[in-house]
Parts: sequence; structure tokens; C-alpha cells
Amino acid sequence: MRHVLDHVMAVTARPSSVMVEGSGSWLRDSEGRTYLDFVQGWAVNCLGHTHPVMVEALRVQAERLINCSPAYHNGPMARLATLIAETSGLDHVFLCNSGAEANEGAIKLARKWGQINRGGAYEIITMHGSFHGRTLATMSASGKPAFERLFEPKVAGFRKVPLNDLDAVGDAITDRTVAVMVEPIQGEAGVVPATDGYLRALRQLTQERGVLLILDEIQTGIGRTGLLYAFQHTGVVPDIMTLGKGLGGGVPLAALVAGARASCFEAGDQGGTFNGNALMAAVGCAVVETVRRPGFLAAVREASAHLAAGLGSLAARHGHGEVRGRGLLLALALARGDAGEVVAQALERGLLINAPRPDTLRFMPALTVSPDEIDRMLALLEPCLG
Ligand SMILES: *Cc1c(COP(=O)(O)O)cnc(C)c1O
Repeated sequence: MRHVLDHVMAVTARPSSVMVEGSGSWLRDSEGRTYLDFVQGWAVNCLGHTHPVMVEALRVQAERLINCSPAYHNGPMARLATLIAETSGLDHVFLCNSGAEANEGAIKLARKWGQINRGGAYEIITMHGSFHGRTLATMSASGKPAFERLFEPKVAGFRKVPLNDLDAVGDAITDRTVAVMVEPIQGEAGVVPATDGYLRALRQLTQERGVLLILDEIQTGIGRTGLLYAFQHTGVVPDIMTLGKGLGGGVPLAALVAGARASCFEAGDQGGTFNGNALMAAVGCAVVETVRRPGFLAAVREASAHLAAGLGSLAARHGHGEVRGRGLLLALALARGDAGEVVAQALERGLLINAPRPDTLRFMPALTVSPDEIDRMLALLEPCLG
């Protein structure tokens, strides 16, 4: 008998279970097993699974207008652009379907800006260990070692420097440079924060040298770090920011956001069939409005403190390392390189966590996770840490 999964392209290693239902922090598979989900689609489902606010937004908008094509404005597109602009202090928003697509847009926008303002400069400085997506240009921009030899030849025009090393950026900026691109916290690299001081100094340096600062907030945006945008911890305002993941709360939605000075696309420069469609934009509005409700982000910060303290005492009891990150994007450094084993054992016990590196566990629960769910996660994790 043929297996039901035979025709699914095997682009990643997946457990054999088939997920059928989710609610809040919980998932259920086709065998009726339940899982406590601290992956949440890689920090995507910021309101957890099937949040009623999202279900309602989908239902109401689907009955009204799903897609009138990007050739026309629609109401949710305008509403979400306004929400993002007003909350970020930036000016113009291009809605798209994935983080990689938003970053492609950021790269194109910076190159166009370089053509107009910096004598054709096009090079973008990015960071070792960074992750910006899986299209050819965003893989080329990424400093992920596993990407280095894949799909050659790469897209030209990216120069990589170590994270948190300001002098390295200063040395790398030339007449060809148009921008510096950085994640406030490198998520895929194992939750490695850019320090607040580094981001402030980078803002000053890019201003002095006349190049743009691009923040990839695809993983850190929309409340993940305890503020709506991670850059708000620093007072730094970027020229360009990209959002994805949490923006749609689980539906495909991302955004390229630019300040007026950098926002130089003209008609014909950027587009895409599904971009700004009313259905996804309506969900984005519901998500952002929910995350902005009074008390929501304070609860994220409280949950973060609770989770960090719990992970810290687990680490102390079992001789593991530091707890890194901010808000509900946290990592635990393991004493041994057996994170894959721990993840497999946790899965057996009904807990979903992620190992971005052999020595690191990453925790990115729903922003709505309860203290009780955090305690249950810690209780499920402890026997796996042996
Ligand atoms: C996930 C991620 C991306 C890519 O987003 P996709 O929606 O998977 O294309 C880019 N940058 C960062 C920081 C991410 O975490």
C-alpha cells in the first residue's frame, strides 16, 4: 500500500505524525496524541493556534472580499499599512506573502536607492550567522554556514562581517556599500542578540557614512520580544524594516516597511499576484490590533520572565549553560551537543521544541502562553535534559 506521505516533497526531516487540529498552545495529530507547542510554526502563531480573533477576521473578510488583485486598493491593505506605519514611525508599507519576499524587496529597494543617491552603490553588509530567507538573493545575503555551498552561483553584492563588531562594519563600508542589514536577534543562528549598544552605534555609523540601516524583524517583530518591534528596546529607528512570521499569526503575510527617505520604488518596480490581498491583510489587522491591546505586551514580558527563570533553574540543576534572548524568543545553551536528541525525546513526551544548533534549544511559544503551560513545558522538558 502506498503511504499517504509518499508525494510530499521531502525538503526537511519531519516526524511521521500528521497534525490535524490546534488550539492555543496545543496541537493534536491524526492518532489523537496531543502536543504542547513551543515552536508555533517557528514563532509564527503569535496568538497560538486558531485564535478566535483570527478565525473571525478570516470569516468576515472571506464573506466580503478575498482578493481584488494588487491593481486596486482594498480596505484591509490600507488599514494594515496605516497600523504598521503609525506604530513603527516609518512611512510606507508593501504587503507580501513571506519573509524572504519582504527581504528581497528590501534588497531591491536599497539597490534602487543606491542607484539614485549613491552613484550606483549596491553592496549590502550582512552578518555571519544571519538568516534572511530561502530565495536565491536572501540565501546569498544570509550568513548561515550550511548555505555557503548550496545553489551556486550565489547572487553577488553581499559582504559578511561578525555580529556585534562595529569596527568590522566600519572597515567593510566602501563607495560600493548601500546598506547594512541585521536581525535584532539572530533567531535561526540560535537566538544570538545584537546588543542594544551595537544597534545604536550601527545607526550612528550608517548615518555618518551615508548608507541605509535595514532591520530584519521577521522573527522579532509583532510583540515577540515584549515590545511591538525589537528596535523599540534601543530607540534606534531603521530606514527599512521587514516583518513576517507573527504579522499574519499563521497565515502567509509579510511586509516591507520604509521611511520616506528610503522609500524610492516607482510604479513597476515591485509587485506580485497575491500582495496586499484583502483576506490576509484583514488577518494582519486583527493580529496587530490584538497585540496592541492594553496589557498584552506586559503579559508577554511577564511570561518571558517566568520562562527564563524556569529555564535558568533547570539549567542550574542539570549543569547546562546560559539562557539567551528576549521576550518569548528564548534559548537554553546545553552542556553537550545533543539538542537533537532532547528535541526527539521531548516529542515522545508530547512537547514540541526546536534545536537551531546542536548545543541550543529554542523556545518560541504563543505570546498568549499561560504560566501554567510554561510550568507544564518545564516539567516535560526536565526528564529530557538528564
Ligand atoms: C523566518 C525568517 C525569514 C524568512 O521568512 P519566510 O517567511 O520563511 O520566507 C527571514 N528572516 C528572518 C529573521 C526569519 O526568522
